[in-house]
Amino acid sequence: MKFVKTACPMDCYDSCSIVAEVDSNETLVRIEGNDRHPITEGRLCGKGYKLLDRYRSDRRILWPMKKVDGKWQRITWEEVLKEIANEVQLAIRTYGPLSIMHTYDYGSSGILKLATDRFFRMLGGFTDVTGSLCWAAGITAQEYDFGQAQSNDPEDIAQHAKHIVVWGRNVSVTNMHMVKYIRQAKKRGATLVVINPLKTDLDASADLIIRPKPGTDGILALAVCNELISNGRYDQSFVNQYTVGFDKFKDHVAAYDVTRAMDLCGITKNEVAYLTNIYADGPTSTLLGIGMQRYRNGGNTIRAIDALGAISGNIGMAGGGVNYAQREVADMVDWDHLTQRDKTVPVREFSRVTQAREILDADPPIDVLFISRTNLVAQVPNASLTRQALQKVRVKILLESFMTQTADEVDYILPATTFFEEEDVMLISMWSSYLAYANQVVPPSGEARPDWMIFRDLARELQLGDELEISPEQLIKEIFEPLHKKGGSIATCKSEGFIRLPIHSVAYHNKVFATSSGKIELYSERAKQDGHSPMAEPDFLQFENDRNFPYKLLTVHPRKQENSQFPLDQDPLQYPIVEIAPQLAKKHGVSELDKIWVETEVGRLRCEVKVVNEMRADVVKIEQGFTFGMLNVNLLTETISSDFGRGSAQYDMNCRLVNEKEKQGMNDKEKVGDAIK
Ligand code: SF4
Repeated sequence: MKFVKTACPMDCYDSCSIVAEVDSNETLVRIEGNDRHPITEGRLCGKGYKLLDRYRSDRRILWPMKKVDGKWQRITWEEVLKEIANEVQLAIRTYGPLSIMHTYDYGSSGILKLATDRFFRMLGGFTDVTGSLCWAAGITAQEYDFGQAQSNDPEDIAQHAKHIVVWGRNVSVTNMHMVKYIRQAKKRGATLVVINPLKTDLDASADLIIRPKPGTDGILALAVCNELISNGRYDQSFVNQYTVGFDKFKDHVAAYDVTRAMDLCGITKNEVAYLTNIYADGPTSTLLGIGMQRYRNGGNTIRAIDALGAISGNIGMAGGGVNYAQREVADMVDWDHLTQRDKTVPVREFSRVTQAREILDADPPIDVLFISRTNLVAQVPNASLTRQALQKVRVKILLESFMTQTADEVDYILPATTFFEEEDVMLISMWSSYLAYANQVVPPSGEARPDWMIFRDLARELQLGDELEISPEQLIKEIFEPLHKKGGSIATCKSEGFIRLPIHSVAYHNKVFATSSGKIELYSERAKQDGHSPMAEPDFLQFENDRNFPYKLLTVHPRKQENSQFPLDQDPLQYPIVEIAPQLAKKHGVSELDKIWVETEVGRLRCEVKVVNEMRADVVKIEQGFTFGMLNVNLLTETISSDFGRGSAQYDMNCRLVNEKEKQGMNDKEKVGDAIK
C-alpha cells in the first residue's frame, strides 16, 4: 500500500490537497483530504470524493474515437494523429493559420494544461479565446481600483474581522472551507451580514440578511458610501493618504441617496443604516461572490463595493479587505515561459462569451477546432447557438473523458487522462495563499494521455518543433522560477502536497497599490481610457420589469458537480429543478413537484417546482450543471457580455413562468424544452 499526494483539479476556491491510497497492484482504492493542510484539514466536499468514481467509471472514453456516418468507431493513436495533422495542414493551406481555433476553459486547474498554447504558437498563428464565463468583470474592476485583486487570508479574517459581509457568495456551496473561519469569527463576537437575493446556507447564522434586486448591489454600495460621506463617517485620513479622486467621487455619489437605493434595490432604510454602521466601525471584511458581476454592470458593481471598502478605511487592514480573488498566487509563475505567448505570431481572439457568434461570422472561417477542458455546449450561454457554431466548423477535435453534450457534436475524441493519471500543479488564485501539487497516482487507463502529450505528439506528426519535448517535472521546475526567487520551493510542494506561498496575510498590507498613481483609484484614468466611466457607475441597467419576461433568472453554480463535468449519477428522467418563492408559486397556480415552463427570449425548459421561502419573489433560480436529454440550463441564457473584461452577463436574463396547463398545443419536442431563436 502506498499513499500519494495529489490535489483536486476543480475550478473551486478551496484547492484541496488529496491523499490517494494505492494498493500493491497499482490500483487506486481510496482518497481522503490531506489532513496536514491547515485550511482544508483533510475534508473534501462531495464533489471531491466523487472524483474517484469518475476515474473508475466504466463510461470513460479510453481510446481515440472517430465519427463515421454518425457512429463512433475506435481508431489507433497513430491513425488519428495522422488524420488530424492532415486536416490541420489542409486548413492552413486553404485559409491560413487563423482558421485553426483552440477553445478551452478551466475544467481542470492544472497549470500544465496551458502548455498546449505552445503547440498553437508553433503552428504560426491561431484563433484563441479570451475573457471569462466566470470572474473577468470583477478582476478587471479590481485592477482599475487596486492594480491587482488581492485578498486577506481566511485565518486573518477569522482572527481580526469585527464584521463580515458575505456579499453574493453562497460560501458553503462554492467555498466550503471558509465556513469554519466565519464560525470562528462569530464565536469571537463578529457580526455577520449576508447580502444575496437567494437563500444561502449561512442565512441561519447571519445577524442581518439583505436581499437586493439582482444587479443592484453596486447601487446599494454607493448609497452606503453616500451615507458615510454625508455624515462625516468615512475614514478621512485613509482617503487622504491612500486614494485618488475622492472629491470627484464625493460629488458622484451624491446622486445615490437612500431613497433612490430603496427604490432601485428593493431594500429598507434600516438595512442601509446597518451597513453604514458596520463599515464605519471596522475592521470589516467583505467576501465577494462571482455571481453579482455576471451582469452588464458587473464590473461597475465590484468597483462600487471596492470604493466602499476604501473610503471606510477597510483596505490594507487586518480583518478587512474587499476579498474577491487572490491574484498574488499567479505572480509565482512565469506565464510567458509556460505558454510562449511572448513568441509573436498572429493570434485572433474570440470572447469566451460570444465565441459561437464569432465562429458563425468568422472570416477567415474556423476550419479546424480543438476543444479541451470544457463542455462547451453545456457551459457557454445560448446552447443552441453553440451547437449551430459547431456544426459550421469542418473538423472538430475534443479532448475528453466522457461522452458529453459537446462530444455529440464533434468528429474526433481524444481520450484525456484524469488528474490521478498525470503530474501537475493546481493553481487557484481565488482565495487562499496555498498551492497544491498533483503527483501522478496511477498509470493512465486504457490509451488516455495528458493534454500536453497529445499536443506534443501532434507537433511531432506535423514536424513543428521541440517546444513540447520537455518532461512535466522539468517544465514545472522552470515555470515556478518566480516562486523560487521569492523563497518558495516547488520541491516542498511536491513532497508535502501543498505549500503556503510567500504572500502577506493582509492584502495591500503596505498600502502600495499597483495602479499608475500607486494609490486606490476611486477615479480611474485607465477605466476612462478603456471607454468606461472613470468612477463606479452601476446604474445603467434598465431595472423596470419587462412585462413579457418579469423575473430575473439566476443560473447559479451547482452544489453537486462542476458545470463543466458530465454528470454521472444524475437520473436522466429528473426534470431540472426551478426554485421560486411561495408568492410566485401561488401566482402561477403551482405547488412543490409540479411542472412549470421557464421561458426566456432564447429558449424554454420544462422544470420541476421547488418552493423556497427565503428568496425574492421576482427571482427564479435554476442550478447549472444538469443535463436533461440533450438540454442544459444554457438553453435559456444569452451571450451577453459584462461591462469589463469580456466577462459573461448571463445572470442578466429575464424570464417568465408558464403553468403547463396554460400552455396549449405543445408538440413532442416542446415537452422537455427547446430553443426559441
Ligand atoms: S471541489 Fe473544492 S472543496 Fe471540493 S474537493 Fe475540490 S477543491 Fe475541495
